[in-house]
Amino acid sequence: MRYEGPIYRPPSEADSLLIQATIGCPHNRCTFCMVYRGGPRFRVRDLTDIEADLRQAREIHGPDVRTLFLPAGNTIAMPTEALCTVCRTAHRIFPNLERITVYGSSPFIHRKRLEGLKRLVETGLTRIHVGLESGDDRILRRIAKGTDSNQQIDAGHWVKAAGIELSLYVILGIGGQKHSESHARETARVLNAIAPDFTRLRTFVPKVGTPLLEDVRNRRFRMLGPHDVLKETALLLTHLKISTTLTSDHYTNYLNLEGHLPKDKERLLSTIATALTREETSFRPFFIGNQ
Ligand code: SF4
Repeated sequence: MRYEGPIYRPPSEADSLLIQATIGCPHNRCTFCMVYRGGPRFRVRDLTDIEADLRQAREIHGPDVRTLFLPAGNTIAMPTEALCTVCRTAHRIFPNLERITVYGSSPFIHRKRLEGLKRLVETGLTRIHVGLESGDDRILRRIAKGTDSNQQIDAGHWVKAAGIELSLYVILGIGGQKHSESHARETARVLNAIAPDFTRLRTFVPKVGTPLLEDVRNRRFRMLGPHDVLKETALLLTHLKISTTLTSDHYTNYLNLEGHLPKDKERLLSTIATALTREETSFRPFFIGNQ
């Protein structure tokens, strides 16, 4: 198999076959993200190359691959017909395939409309990981996410209506001290409107070479400390009314929170309350991310 550029995958895809259908990210402007700042530019790979990689993977792993992840920043941006062809080909080569997953941002999902998403389901796409980041429109503008809460809600509804599993990522602390409360409340509002299957928490860490790191250094953006992040998390959880699987399986987080809402809400809030009795120095230290 051939890989080009940085290869990222969600922790839940640790055991999956990774085959690139696209390279890079067509947006590449989020102010917190360093992944593709140094390139490569976004492009869709030739279908013959993708098929060749799938066939080579079958020679190496045999026919019994169950989960496939197509890594790159926004593989959902691939033309619908081409992505359908990749899904069909993957199922032909791996007849026991149970899951095909991609990353996708709301603007690119939105362009597919419900009809396009249904076509993808018919050919075997089963799960999309989406960076919601925040439900607060001011924050979405500041981080140059290229979308707003209404579009994120529409995109989320269509993904679910098409029958695709939806995993939404929230970045704790991405509003800084100034917008922490509205970040929590507005993100809860949007999550409540979408009711994703999975809600995944990450904590903002400034990354090398990003505009947001410059804002942190120039004090235009004041980061939250561990206690502030935990209070923001508690406020978010308090306002969530939906059924969703909550995970925070990531090295950036101060606390690992796992559970099913609403069943585990009180337990998770109690875990946060206990953590708030610890000294801030007992949590992971501040660091600048380089990946
Ligand atoms: S966060 Fe996602 S959409 Fe934004 S630039 Fe990075 S890869 Fe692209």
